[in-house]
Amino acid sequence: MNNNIKESILKHDRMVPRYTSYPTAPHFKSGATQDWYRKELEKIPARSPISLYVHVPFCSQLCWFCGCHTRVTSRYSAVGDYTDWLLQELSMLVPILAPKRLEVRYLHFGGGSPTMLRPSDFRRIVSRLRKIGDFTRDDLGVSVEIDPRAASADKLSAYQKCGVNRASLGVQDFNQQVMNAVNRSQDYDTCKRATDMCRAHGINNVNIDLMYGLPYQTRDSIRKTAEQALTLEPQRISLFGYAHVPWMKKHMRLIQEDALPSVEDRLDLFEDAAEVFENAGYVPIGIDHFCKESDNLVTALRSNCLSRNFQGYTDDNCPYLLAVGASGISRLGDVYVQNYVHLPPYRDRVLSGQFPFDKYCEMTESDKIRARVIEKMMCNLSVNPLGEAAGMGIPDHDFSGVYESIMPLVRDGLAQISSDGTVHALARQSARLICASFDQYLPHSSEARHVTSS
Ligand code: SF4
Repeated sequence: MNNNIKESILKHDRMVPRYTSYPTAPHFKSGATQDWYRKELEKIPARSPISLYVHVPFCSQLCWFCGCHTRVTSRYSAVGDYTDWLLQELSMLVPILAPKRLEVRYLHFGGGSPTMLRPSDFRRIVSRLRKIGDFTRDDLGVSVEIDPRAASADKLSAYQKCGVNRASLGVQDFNQQVMNAVNRSQDYDTCKRATDMCRAHGINNVNIDLMYGLPYQTRDSIRKTAEQALTLEPQRISLFGYAHVPWMKKHMRLIQEDALPSVEDRLDLFEDAAEVFENAGYVPIGIDHFCKESDNLVTALRSNCLSRNFQGYTDDNCPYLLAVGASGISRLGDVYVQNYVHLPPYRDRVLSGQFPFDKYCEMTESDKIRARVIEKMMCNLSVNPLGEAAGMGIPDHDFSGVYESIMPLVRDGLAQISSDGTVHALARQSARLICASFDQYLPHSSEARHVTSS
């Protein structure tokens, strides 16, 4: 990254969301009725493709950088009880959705740590999910987030039998000083063992999640971590920025702040790791992913079909994403619905026979256009807003105020506007800043992050 770009990013650095949805979750509201949700489910057309997400909000140890909806437990009874609630939630959905013969495109287990589930409970959940729709598509993707420390032959064997064909390993870093500083005891050998175990069980698509901006990371250490990551031959690598928000996540106060890299150093850390991946032939995807040439995301990027949802970048274009479990967010066409984040209300709703949702959002026409434009910018790092609006049948949508707000980025070399109105991000880090110009809710956002701390 040249110094001018770096200076411009530092100059414009401000709180902006990561845009895994638009509107973003803090703008969802309360007040929808059970009947309303049932009708939204009933609107899903028969034989439609659908994707499914299962949230498992438990971990065995708290990483101090964690921004996920999870809690630490050493009692399996807590996980076992939760499994029963999940099954109950699914049982409420089955009578509405099963007659539609929906085609499941993707199933993703996230968390928390899905590896907290015993193999028998994992199988029970998958077996109940199979009642929701048809799992026979050739391109069915079934993925699980794996804590390398918890990978075991019996779990991997259960995943294999349940059709899992992609695993995402939470690696973060291999440097032990860095890992000790964030309370995550995990080394290279543990990750290598987990990777080998996945492949031995036929799960050949292995993703690795890394993080930059952690305490004690240096340019040398992150290069070494990136090089070690390549020895595991991952299909995809994500390189997320640590967002230090101790006022929102109290456990982050345990991180030694004077060991955190500066905003400027964070840019170097990202670029150094990115250079290692790109020199090894990995294709950059969006703002923070790197994939092998053979990966589906590369095909999707090149055919202008790359999408972004709550799990990040995806080639999943299903208009319906049904999430179950505490905090899960569904997208049903033009509606978002989020389940209760905390376990007691989630449990109470499910056990009393109610859908356990808390918040919802019905997208306005303006939301839909802006959501499309923001998604395209996050995926392709360029977008023609007028073209996107015209493609949605609204050719006269007024973006004039938006172009005006992008001009400071243009003047500082972070964006470019072509004669046909296409906006180009000239650095990965400027894509979110450009998206923020399209975000009508941002001034009131409480979810915002600094662009250098995705
Ligand atoms: S394993 Fe993942 S979800 Fe669990 S505490 Fe660590 S970062 Fe958070």
